[in-house]
Amino acid sequence: MCGGSSGGGVGGGVGGGKQKMASPGTGKLTQQHLKWGKEGTGELFVDSEFPAAASSIDGRPAAPSSSSSSSSSSSAAATTAKCKCGVPAKLSQVSKDGPNQGRWFETCVKREGAGRCGHFKWADHAPHDTKNAARKWKRHGPEAGYVLWGSSGPQPDDVRQGSVGDCWFLSAVASVAERPELIRALLDDSEWAQGKVTWRLFVDGDWARVSVDTFLPTLDEAEIAKMSKKEVQLKAGMKFARPNGSKVWVPLLEKAVAKVHGSYLAISGGWPEESFRFLTGAPVHKVLYVRRPR
Ligand SMILES: [Zn+2]
Repeated sequence: MCGGSSGGGVGGGVGGGKQKMASPGTGKLTQQHLKWGKEGTGELFVDSEFPAAASSIDGRPAAPSSSSSSSSSSSAAATTAKCKCGVPAKLSQVSKDGPNQGRWFETCVKREGAGRCGHFKWADHAPHDTKNAARKWKRHGPEAGYVLWGSSGPQPDDVRQGSVGDCWFLSAVASVAERPELIRALLDDSEWAQGKVTWRLFVDGDWARVSVDTFLPTLDEAEIAKMSKKEVQLKAGMKFARPNGSKVWVPLLEKAVAKVHGSYLAISGGWPEESFRFLTGAPVHKVLYVRRPR
């Protein structure tokens, strides 16, 4: 296991059938690319399957934002539900590895001991965390000065992890990028000028085309205020993986894997071998080094 606290199986959200791939993109701007949007109208692709909204971060269905949360933690929040004591129940997430990992539940807000009512209820439709509900997503397409990988091509050191535990995924991305032609073969950038990229990824035993728009979630002011100057500079305002300069292919690939799994939270925690298979379709052999007992 590598990474954060949430699990979640590979599931829905993969758009499109099995179409023939266009030739892999270079990320270079052609004459055509200089006119943004559909036929130069400035109208950019908006992915309704994986919207720029809290549901794409926490994986919960869009719900009316009625949270009266006073908690600043993203893993615990108040809920409108009440426990048997009649006080607002506490909302938490299962951190333990297993089938319920990442699932939200309600418990009594009181700690161990006297007065604790023992309330427990799954909270699959709990309100979104207020921070994620208010989070701003910004376009990272050519109209904003970004390239996919530009003339240098995809490189291992383009990988810049953000605030989600997907090192299991990004470490494999960096490894596969040691052979840039393998990354190039995954990308269809024919609609880049229209704010859309399509990745070819190995999902549930077959190749699938996964399209995403160019919206990426950003850090809010309160999150930035808590950071050191160095950290602020490092994170470049981005909540999750960030571009390397103007090269934005890694955050857009991370967005595609988040879409396949249902949310950014769902890719917190995983196994690198899963990521290698996802990126290459090749069988994966795992070697465990175990210390010999004395
Ligand atoms: Zn209670």
